[in-house]
Formats: sequence, structure tokens, C-alpha cells
Amino acid sequence: MMFADLHLHTQFSDGTYSPEEMVSQARLHGLGALALTDHDTVEGCPRAAAACESAGIEFIPGTELTAEQDGNELHILGYLIDIQNPRLLSEIGKFQHVRQNRIREMVARLNEMKVPLRVAAVFELANCRAPGRPHVARALVQAGLCSSLDEAFERFLKKNRPAFVPKFKMSAAVAIELIHQAGGLAVMAHPGLNRTDQVIPGMVEAGLDGIECFHTKHSATTSEHYLEIAERFRLLVTGGSDCHGLSKGRPLIGTVKLPYERVEKLKTRAEERKAAAALSH
Ligand SMILES: [Zn+2]
Ligand SMILES: [Zn+2]
Repeated sequence: MMFADLHLHTQFSDGTYSPEEMVSQARLHGLGALALTDHDTVEGCPRAAAACESAGIEFIPGTELTAEQDGNELHILGYLIDIQNPRLLSEIGKFQHVRQNRIREMVARLNEMKVPLRVAAVFELANCRAPGRPHVARALVQAGLCSSLDEAFERFLKKNRPAFVPKFKMSAAVAIELIHQAGGLAVMAHPGLNRTDQVIPGMVEAGLDGIECFHTKHSATTSEHYLEIAERFRLLVTGGSDCHGLSKGRPLIGTVKLPYERVEKLKTRAEERKAAAALSH
């Protein structure tokens, strides 16, 4: 039996693994397929694809977009997207710019509180176009201003803490359309962490293809609940570890193993969408 992990992050967003390290970890855990889903970027995909090819692992290009539906923040995974798609690239370029400004604002707030973190230190450490809060946390620890990542989040970076800056969010419908026009499938990430099931019908209306029923932070009961929702709305079922390497505690790769037949269903649906799009043009 072959298994997949369809939710992984690297250094190209807020994970710590390089694409090559991620793939060698996937190999250690015996995965047959994986998807790279860095936040607001597809930059790591070519290297991950090459590493997968040499490791004999099937690679699925992906990304994870931050969106909003009825006032709730949610994450939308895009799978099997064309990573050269011009509109996708130009839109995520804008999100990256917004992320960089958000880092500047968080550091400015820290500086106002007499926490002497340099914005350049965060950008150097992040060394990617889609920096986020975990990078600020790591820079605080590296500069000796916090003793742990947890402390950095608890004191400064969590929602309602003094250096928290809200993220820019596009509407879920816009995110779904952006993914579709790039030939991909849109999947709602970790619904069990959001606990906003009321948004699901609206997202289905907007063209949502699937839902991440299996996730490291979903209990068996939670997974069961979302499997029922998937069935009710005829959504595809996905799953992944959401591994960030070492940046959010221990590496989680290997904790979620999605049976490969679920990946086959994704691929079939993507082909159907493409065929329908070709007909309508
Ligand atoms: Zn997420
Ligand atoms: Zn994620």
C-alpha cells in the first residue's frame, strides 16, 4: 500500500527543511507521494520535484493561501497547479510583498516596546520571499531577546499580543478561482483548527474541490466528522502532516499517511476540470 503526505512546508515559507531535506525525510517515512504547500509561494517546487524524482517519490506541486470567508480566516490549499501560471505568480508576488510589510510593522511595534530587534535580522534569517511570524520568533530567540519560540509568541506575536499584526486575506472565492485558473484544485486546509463549519457551504458554492480531513491536529473524531461533510458535499478528501521541520516543535512528517487512492481521485478531478475548461473556451 502506498501513502502520501499532502501538506508540507520548507524554508521557502516558514518551515526549516530545504526541499531536499524534506524529501529525504519523506523517504525515511516510506512515503510514495508528497505535496509541497508553502504559504503564498511555489518557489520551492522545482527543487522539491527534482529531489522527489531522484528519490522515486511522486511530486504534487502546491501552495497554501490565506483567505477569508464570512469574516473567518482560513487556509486554502492549491494542488496540481501550474507553477508557471502568470496570474498565479503575479498574485502571489503581491501577497509576498504584503508579508514583507507585515514583518516590518511587527518589528516596528517591537521596537516601540524597546525590544531591539532589527528588521534586517528577520529578513536574513527568513531568506525567503514569504516570511511570516515564525521567522520573527526565531529572530527574537537568535538575538537573545526571547528564550524560546513559545515565549516569543506568548509575549509578542500571538493574536491580541502587542506585536501582532493581522494578515492580509483575499476572499475564499478569489483564492479558489486563482487556483482553478492555474489548473489546480482548491482544498480547505485543517478545518478542525478553524471550527467554522458554517463557511463550508459558501465555499462549495465558490467551487471548493476538497477538504483536508486528515491532519496532525485532527483527532479521530474530527477526521470522522469531516469525512461525513466531504461525503455530504461530494468533496475530495485529502490529508497531510503540515510539517514545518523544526520551526513549530518536532517534525511532523510521517504522522499523517494518506492512502494513495485519494491522490488518484485528486488527479482525476484535476483532469476533469481541465477538460471542462478547454470545452468552455
Ligand atoms: Zn494552514
Ligand atoms: Zn500549512
